[in-house]
Amino acid sequence: MTRKILVTSALPYANGSIHLGHLVEYIQTDIWVRFQKMQENLIHYVCADDTHGTPIMLRAEKEKVTPEALIEKVHKEHLSDFVDFNIEFDNYYSTNSEENRELSESIYNSLKSNGKISIRTIEQFYDPVKSMFLPDRFIKGECPKCHAKDQYGDSCEVCGATYNPTELINPFSAVSGATPIRKDTEHFFFKLSECSEFLRFWTRSGTLQPEAANKMSEWLGDADENKLSDWDISRDAPYFGFQIPDAPGKFFYVWLDAPIGYMASFKNLAKRHSLNFDEYWGKGSATELYHFIGKDILYFHALFWPATLEFSGYRTPTKIFAHGFLTVNGEKMSKSRGTFITARSYLEHVKNPEYLRYYYAAKLNGSMEDIDLNLEDFVARVNSDLVGKYINIASRTAGFLTKYFEGKILGIDLNDQVYKATRSSLTSSGDIASCYESRDYAKALREIMKVTDYVNEYVNDMAPWVLAKDPDQHHSGSKLHAVCSDALKAFRILTIYLSPVLPEISRKVSVLFGESGSYLWSSLMESPNRISNYSHLITRIDPKLIESMVEANKESLTNSPNTKIENQPSVANPISELINIDDFMKVDLRVAKILSAEHVEGAEKLLKLVLDIGEPNTRQVFAGIKSSYDPESLVDRLTVMVANLAPRKMKFGLSEGMVLAASDESGGPYILSPDAGALPGMRIK
Ligand SMILES: [Zn+2]
Repeated sequence: MTRKILVTSALPYANGSIHLGHLVEYIQTDIWVRFQKMQENLIHYVCADDTHGTPIMLRAEKEKVTPEALIEKVHKEHLSDFVDFNIEFDNYYSTNSEENRELSESIYNSLKSNGKISIRTIEQFYDPVKSMFLPDRFIKGECPKCHAKDQYGDSCEVCGATYNPTELINPFSAVSGATPIRKDTEHFFFKLSECSEFLRFWTRSGTLQPEAANKMSEWLGDADENKLSDWDISRDAPYFGFQIPDAPGKFFYVWLDAPIGYMASFKNLAKRHSLNFDEYWGKGSATELYHFIGKDILYFHALFWPATLEFSGYRTPTKIFAHGFLTVNGEKMSKSRGTFITARSYLEHVKNPEYLRYYYAAKLNGSMEDIDLNLEDFVARVNSDLVGKYINIASRTAGFLTKYFEGKILGIDLNDQVYKATRSSLTSSGDIASCYESRDYAKALREIMKVTDYVNEYVNDMAPWVLAKDPDQHHSGSKLHAVCSDALKAFRILTIYLSPVLPEISRKVSVLFGESGSYLWSSLMESPNRISNYSHLITRIDPKLIESMVEANKESLTNSPNTKIENQPSVANPISELINIDDFMKVDLRVAKILSAEHVEGAEKLLKLVLDIGEPNTRQVFAGIKSSYDPESLVDRLTVMVANLAPRKMKFGLSEGMVLAASDESGGPYILSPDAGALPGMRIK
């Protein structure tokens, strides 16, 4: 039966760039959503920018723009980061929307008429220069416990103590530097203390991971000892947010309207797609509703949010899925170490987002444990698992099918060894599918890689490249044909299993098999009968890219403390001085066919190529392209070489020419290829 599901990720704050820490959650959610889509469930994935509050108001002021202009700029930046990481939202909206204003007001009014709102006078720090009340984070002073200077109003970063801002010694306003004064003000409270019975039930009804439910019990106390206090939901002007109805100068605290932003984003989507809002949010709704969040905002999502919904007449979430934090190289992300890496910076240096999706997936197991991005391990795992194992199956077999058998893949056969093996992990797969369902992607990938290893061993044992040397193998139905067909059918199954994690590679593979669409889980039942020309799908990561990424993120700290991201123009690379045609004709460029390519023992960058340029003898060339190419993927490719370059004696042997490749700081090397029709030995002029 088709399930109807609504999924959200936490709303990123519109005051900074998306970084690799944020991406853990969006990637985790996106994989789950894509898996559900493959199961042909009806699922919507919505999110939005969280746009209100003092930090945004002050930053806009500093940049001399309106808050609206600031959040619009950040929205564009966030959305393009998500799109480029293949995060597929059905709607990416803003909390500063009419839908959100209406919903926030009506939810507040319902809470009020249900007797859940109270008004109290409290004393707060006030900046007499800026004429504004100061949130805790905007008051600084000396820690009352350890006397460290320049600490925030709520906690000390040196000794870890938490306290009230009024306890700070020599407090000052972080906005103006003035000494704050204490001033009375009326605040609006949501009577959370009256919701404890409901929350004790709700948090224990299977809505939370066990470790999260335990944490909530600590905060809730038991029936005899209610530990919940009422929640302050208002802020005084000046504030960027929604005004509270009938309360001039009072605004909703950003955390009141932020989760309502989930509903607002869905409402906006529902309008455009004619979906029934009440079927998703109405009390008693049968639609599944899941919030993916970081464990740091559990308090808001597991206490405030369900209570807000329950007492304003809406349904509550089906489950809250909390995940841990990201560490990089075993430590907290750090700007000084260059490990506070923005999404954009990753894309500029490493480029392929699916490497990170794969790595995070290999670490995410559905628990609240922190996950570590070890940069060395990242390179090693992507290069060995994705390129060396998975892609290697296709790169070592696809070429023979197109070369000798017009791309025809033999039908399913009883003797298919590896195809059957990948399919049998389907029958127990319940397995792989249930791993995805329970968000244990780490286990799913372990299972998939186990089968991948088996398929690779088979290709090794069968050695199609040896079979291919025998002309008797070049007829349809030969062993060569059967082995390559078997391996590629298995490769396709593995691709379907990996599709939620690697949507872009999956799409390319489906095109390769002439299926040109997104795979569904039911595609496992089908079998391809053709393959078109294989060109390599991904290349190895050069560890140097990681080094330069870390270096660049260190620099951005010294350049701008706000880690503002701007598109960097590519480093100037001026055109060389003029030459005439005779100068050019001295360079004899030829079309060359790569007959073989292999790693060179002890060489970090080089591949050894044997080239056919139409002469009786082949040429041997050492090319510095190891970082971008898997040697097997180069065999049989045409490229361009300088044929009259004086031979050079190298440590590894004689290099008899040079292969042309393009590169700069942003990437490469990329070797050149002539158009179809060019033959080995043709001169380029
Ligand atoms: Zn302290």
